[in-house]
Amino acid sequence: MILKQDLHIHTHCSCDSASAQIVDVLKAGQQLGFTHFGISDHLHTRFNLPDIEVARKEFLALGPVPGFHFGLEITCVTQWECEKIAKRDYASCFTYDLKGHPFQTMTPIDGIMYGGPANGPLLLDITAEEIERLGIEYIIGGVHKPNYTEQAPRSMINDFFNQMCFMLNHEFVDIIAHPWDGLPFWSGYKILSQDPKDLNFEAYRMIPSEYWDELAKLFIDNHKLAELNAASILNARFPEDIRHLYMNEMAAWREKGVKFTYGSDLHAAQYDTALTMRFNGLLQNYGFTKKDFYLPPLLKDIIKKKDELCN
Ligand SMILES: [Zn+2]
Ligand SMILES: [Zn+2]
Repeated sequence: MILKQDLHIHTHCSCDSASAQIVDVLKAGQQLGFTHFGISDHLHTRFNLPDIEVARKEFLALGPVPGFHFGLEITCVTQWECEKIAKRDYASCFTYDLKGHPFQTMTPIDGIMYGGPANGPLLLDITAEEIERLGIEYIIGGVHKPNYTEQAPRSMINDFFNQMCFMLNHEFVDIIAHPWDGLPFWSGYKILSQDPKDLNFEAYRMIPSEYWDELAKLFIDNHKLAELNAASILNARFPEDIRHLYMNEMAAWREKGVKFTYGSDLHAAQYDTALTMRFNGLLQNYGFTKKDFYLPPLLKDIIKKKDELCN
């Protein structure tokens, strides 16, 4: 088994459909023989902070366990939505005219999907004090929605690229979650139709090679890690040839010196061992070995301290 870690696992404390109990994640990680694994629930904006507080409490109740970590998956958000959420100004965000359809953001739980100014200032809605207080050991930064740009492939590619660059230059981020994931969703209007046919996987072919190159450079220069995400890459809707294109780009990043982490991105009640095993096989097909997987540098210091505590 190449995979000796899984740093991207959601629990019932996540604001979405995830449902695993933290103790079950712990048992599964130990059974699989992971050297390091961690929970990483979503924080889109500080609206989700109470969920992370609960996760932290439950995590601590299990005591210090060597190799078991407390991470966070943070979304790249906008100043515009954070200001609205800080003011608890939700009423004006409930309904948005999306191609003549009223689109409802039921609560700001996922951030505010529509209505902001395109390409406004980005941010991560957490402070250094909160990271310290919550004992967050590493942060995975993810693009989960556009910065209010046009929902079409080219503008979406530029938007995702800008957000990834922002996070690659941000001191809080250790790992970039599932690079480019969400592009097929936001390049089309599945959000309206709910029809999987409206996922535009062809958008992956339109990513300019300079963007792949520039991201690789930022990963290396800024000592950030790229995530290989099983849930995203083994998505059953992913056309085989485009999955191949994506994995070739990941292998090309590796050859340039990019370092990786593994994330199953679990959202179910039980750990999906079969998915991780399948993904392990896929990685081998593209020449990945144990040596390509790393831990964030800051996490290594925490591990040292934790090991001292456990011994
Ligand atoms: Zn994500
Ligand atoms: Zn996730």
